[in-house]
Amino acid sequence: MKKKDIVRAYGDKFYLRNHGYYSSNITGRYLHRVVWEENNGEIADGFIVHHIDGDTKNNNISNLALMSKSDHMKMHYAENSGGLRGYNESISIR
Ligand SMILES: [Zn+2]
Repeated sequence: MKKKDIVRAYGDKFYLRNHGYYSSNITGRYLHRVVWEENNGEIADGFIVHHIDGDTKNNNISNLALMSKSDHMKMHYAENSGGLRGYNESISIR
């Protein structure tokens, strides 16, 4: 594992996964969701944290936006009529 594949933040380590997101081995939580909650408070049920520039490895707070799951789906399907490439509904967070 390369060094850049590990992000240290909030007293935890987040590892880059095959699906392109960082998550913690300890809590299983996704880095972008932790970053959002540390800055803005708890994420309500039914909401996801979207990566504005589409880069799931860019977890700077300025690249994150909170959206409802349905708005998020609509937005991604609108930007690519064939459906979002690589979109994984079970993860549902890009
Ligand atoms: Zn998104």
